[in-house]
Amino acid sequence: MKRIAILNCLKANDVCAGAACLKAFNSRSRHFEQYGAEPIELVAMGRCNGCEVGIDEGFQEKLDRIIEEGAEVCHLGVCTIKSETRQECKTITEAANYLETHGVQIVRGTH
Ligand code: SF4
Repeated sequence: MKRIAILNCLKANDVCAGAACLKAFNSRSRHFEQYGAEPIELVAMGRCNGCEVGIDEGFQEKLDRIIEEGAEVCHLGVCTIKSETRQECKTITEAANYLETHGVQIVRGTH
């Protein structure tokens, strides 16, 4: 069983129901295709706390919870990459690095 988390951008919150990520997860398509027939479980799905605060106490708690839940892989939503620059935001890069140093593999993309 592969334990998976998804982390998305708060800016997408106004319009995002998480549906496209969950559809890709459930159908094992797009960035979830790599798991093939391996059993997968979604153990956490959250968002950052916004550009203004970066990795504040609450976001740190979410990252630690992802680790505590035993996530082996964390997928970063495509919304964490600014479409105009194709650059990943610094906060998400920092969060991804933190997760990686705690043994969580990072995959950039969900759907
Ligand atoms: S910190 Fe990054 S991921 Fe979070 S809202 Fe801002 S741009 Fe989006």
